[in-house]
Amino acid sequence: MHVLVINCGSSSVKYVLFDGDENRVLEGKRERLGPTSGERAETHQQAIAAILDSLGDHRVDAVGHRVVHGGADFFESQVIDAPVRAAIERRIPDAPMHNPFSLAAINKAQEALPDIAHVAVFDTAFHARMPRRARTYAIDQDVADTYGIQRYGFHGISHQYAAGIAAKFLERPLEDLRLITLHLGNGASATAVEFGRSTETSMGNTPLEGLVMGTRSGDVDAGVLLSLLRSGEFDVDQLDDLLNNKSGLSGLSGMGNDLRDIQQAAADGDSRARLAINVFVHRARKYIGAYAAAMGGVDAIVFTGGIGENSASMRRRILQRLEFLGCVLDEDRNIDASVQTDEDYALITTGRSRVEALVVKTNEELMIARETVKTVSKARAPVALSVPIAISARHCHLTEETFAALFGQDATPTPIADLSQPGQYACAETVDIVGPRNKIEGVRLLGPLRPSNQVEISTSDEFHLGVDAPVRASGNVRGSAPIVLVGPQGIVKLQEGLICAWRHIHMRPSDAEAFGVENGDEVSVAITGGERDLILGDVLIRVHENYALEMHIDTDEANAAGLGQGARGHLSASDVDEATLVYTGLDETALVH
Ligand code: AMP
Repeated sequence: MHVLVINCGSSSVKYVLFDGDENRVLEGKRERLGPTSGERAETHQQAIAAILDSLGDHRVDAVGHRVVHGGADFFESQVIDAPVRAAIERRIPDAPMHNPFSLAAINKAQEALPDIAHVAVFDTAFHARMPRRARTYAIDQDVADTYGIQRYGFHGISHQYAAGIAAKFLERPLEDLRLITLHLGNGASATAVEFGRSTETSMGNTPLEGLVMGTRSGDVDAGVLLSLLRSGEFDVDQLDDLLNNKSGLSGLSGMGNDLRDIQQAAADGDSRARLAINVFVHRARKYIGAYAAAMGGVDAIVFTGGIGENSASMRRRILQRLEFLGCVLDEDRNIDASVQTDEDYALITTGRSRVEALVVKTNEELMIARETVKTVSKARAPVALSVPIAISARHCHLTEETFAALFGQDATPTPIADLSQPGQYACAETVDIVGPRNKIEGVRLLGPLRPSNQVEISTSDEFHLGVDAPVRASGNVRGSAPIVLVGPQGIVKLQEGLICAWRHIHMRPSDAEAFGVENGDEVSVAITGGERDLILGDVLIRVHENYALEMHIDTDEANAAGLGQGARGHLSASDVDEATLVYTGLDETALVH
């Protein structure tokens, strides 16, 4: 596949055309674009038109667009259609210097090349599965939810690429490695890549947080912004300008953002230049320590980006005093380190260093091209359909007779919340269930009353109660486990009725037709987007006119996938509510994505 990569910045567009062997057939850059470059500057659309013109007769099978902000919507690259375009547009307020231009470029390129796939490769996607504890700011969560305030992380394309290259050079699987990748350039960020996944990264809700950058401040006490606003001397735009354009190496040194100039001035004794270097280095080292602690160790530290690749002195300063971590720099190797091509890498630690440090050349364009090929190929693969998931906490269904014995002859169930399946509801009534070892209090009754008793628990509950409950489809309780129920008005000893519910998907006949399955079929379901991807086999298909499409799993299964609980009666929707239904009969490789 010949892929045109378009990397759109706020005032420039870089492009590379790769052939099927990842050779760069054509490349170039158009600069000084857009509103920040003056009134008569070329627009991004004009730049794209000129780039497409310059391709001449070259073959292009797909276009990969770098998109800075995909928010929490995207865990991976996407073929660009109307919903993807809309999602990029929704993120414009969060990435005002990037997303509008990417969108303009995408629209122009799609207009000019309407018959081929265009793929969005997001800087945020690699970080989208960071654990919740790392994503969450400690502010009022209602405010956070309302305004989408969470840590997204950026530079993901570069961190993912650098981690992959490091694993290759270290000749170890990425899944075995705890890496700290440092992308140090005009923009700078650090990422903890723990067994192949980003579990912490220094940029946050916007690309402003974290390390010291060329002109961006990185971490600043939010109280400072409040003070400056209250002073009346700064409005929001001035603060924006201060933190994004007048800070970082530039603000510290007072002589611009090019590190080479700052290093020269520092060597000549300029104290501001020296301070700029010290603050930059200190911050980076601090993050390395933090990420090693967060991961419980580190196997390698990877430098990339203009500064990371080129400045031996900055690498040396950053790695100083990290011997306690087991990272011992080899100064000769560090000075000799040179990474001119993708095939280059340089190990800069000594043979006795337990933690390796290495330098790799970032190649975001190649990563975007690879992602584009992968995404287009996947889109052509057999369709996978998605189904919402609900997590069933333990609950019971009772007969009229059992209900009367537990709650009194004149009692009737008290509905308190409708469930997603039509006609089903959670009741105010709860029972205690008592096993040989322990009891569980407050097990919710679901209505309406049924012809047979059924108590559904998880495997963990089984151990707690000291019972052995079979895995059964709902309604199939013959020969299942006995259990004692305690209500406010009486006790009932059930001879059978205790089961672990067989995970299942409710669907209407029309859904079944779309999925190509029938009632009673068993399928596999890949759950992605939680904290831990999980493929569940033996998922039962239940088809009925009255069902709503939904997969039901129990709390053990939800915990295994790292899915969280929301609240919807006893069946609570998870915050990750999409699973991919994979047809039975597909082979293992089809299951993996
Ligand atoms: P990037 O944004 O990745 O292109 O990185 C740009 C930054 O890398 C600028 O601050 C440059 O001054 C810095 N840089 C590039 N080459 C060198 C070098 N040989 N020594 C020090 N800094 C460098």
